[in-house]
Amino acid sequence: MANAFRARGTALLRQGRGIPLFSVFGIRVVADYTWFLIVALIATTLTIGWFPTTLPDRAPVHYILLGVPTALFFFASVLVHELSHSVVAVLSGIPVRKITLFLFGGIAEISREPSDPGTELRVALAGPVMSAALAAGFWIAYVAMGDESSRPGLQLAILYLALANSFLLGFNLLPGLPLDGGRILRAIVWKITGSLRRATFLASTVGKVIAGLLILAGIVGVLSRAYVLPGLWFVFIALFLRHAADRSYRQVLVREALAGIGVTSVMVTDVVSVPPDITLSELIEIYLLRHHYTAYPVVDGDIPLGVISVRLVKRVPQGAWRTTSVAQAMHPLTDVITLSLRDTLPTAMQKMAASGLGKLPVIEDGRLVGVVTKRDIASYLEVRSDLSS
Ligand SMILES: [Zn+2]
Repeated sequence: MANAFRARGTALLRQGRGIPLFSVFGIRVVADYTWFLIVALIATTLTIGWFPTTLPDRAPVHYILLGVPTALFFFASVLVHELSHSVVAVLSGIPVRKITLFLFGGIAEISREPSDPGTELRVALAGPVMSAALAAGFWIAYVAMGDESSRPGLQLAILYLALANSFLLGFNLLPGLPLDGGRILRAIVWKITGSLRRATFLASTVGKVIAGLLILAGIVGVLSRAYVLPGLWFVFIALFLRHAADRSYRQVLVREALAGIGVTSVMVTDVVSVPPDITLSELIEIYLLRHHYTAYPVVDGDIPLGVISVRLVKRVPQGAWRTTSVAQAMHPLTDVITLSLRDTLPTAMQKMAASGLGKLPVIEDGRLVGVVTKRDIASYLEVRSDLSS
């Protein structure tokens, strides 16, 4: 647990991962660097595999002109799938900060677990419903173009998109976490048993079984040389799924372990805060390099104004660090990032996830009384689990 948080800390310090593409409905869409690899891979398979096989005897440039846009449409389908999860989450009152497109498709960063099975079910169903609609649309368009289409290239691109969206739909409906089908299974079992922990345990176990079968299929493919590259790919995806299935269950255990525990049990009252009017360069020299914390409350006299973090500093171009003040770059104090003495640790973790900050100020009567950090929550959990084992 603590290691995971520490790893995230070092990830923060690394130069920003991924490229922001655009924002929709207040959700930032970011492409991880690994995503460009998979786009290139799919575009290549389309250009040298799918189109030359299904539509022989054309000039290579023709295949490129078909392959690249088809690959982009495929990834637009993945994005639309993630967006529909996100939009339903936002409509259900669950904030979504961003969608990251990466090697295995897309991940919507839904900042907290749904609080009831109905919401879980709606958010989980939104993606597959969208993929089903897309698949149906492409199938209808493909059939409507008839047998003797005057535009066979376009028709084959549409066929590919129909197949790809049908595959996305089928794969995502497998009933194990972290897949959508796993979330649907979890919502149903949660509704029946009333226990999120038991429902998550079941869905995460099914997820690990699916991952195990996929690993087996991959190894068979590699050893028999029947499908070496797809085989390696299966193993790769399965390891990722296994890890995510494990993590979903651990998250629920953490949430249960922290339920009802107040922020005061981990709050630090001896706080290093920073004034709003110094520049980012001064912040780095005087505070970041000396205290090694990754986030600081910003306080003017004794009035708390916001939180500044390494991540927020890095959003400002390095050339502007000498001219930008802490006040300009900070996350201003809003309910989203403020805790009160009566809040509990699960609330603190939700607010950290929603804001992307690893340290939150605790405010009482308009004054800063302490801070709660992710790292302190992690150590608290570690000590508790050591004592109970
Ligand atoms: Zn999905």
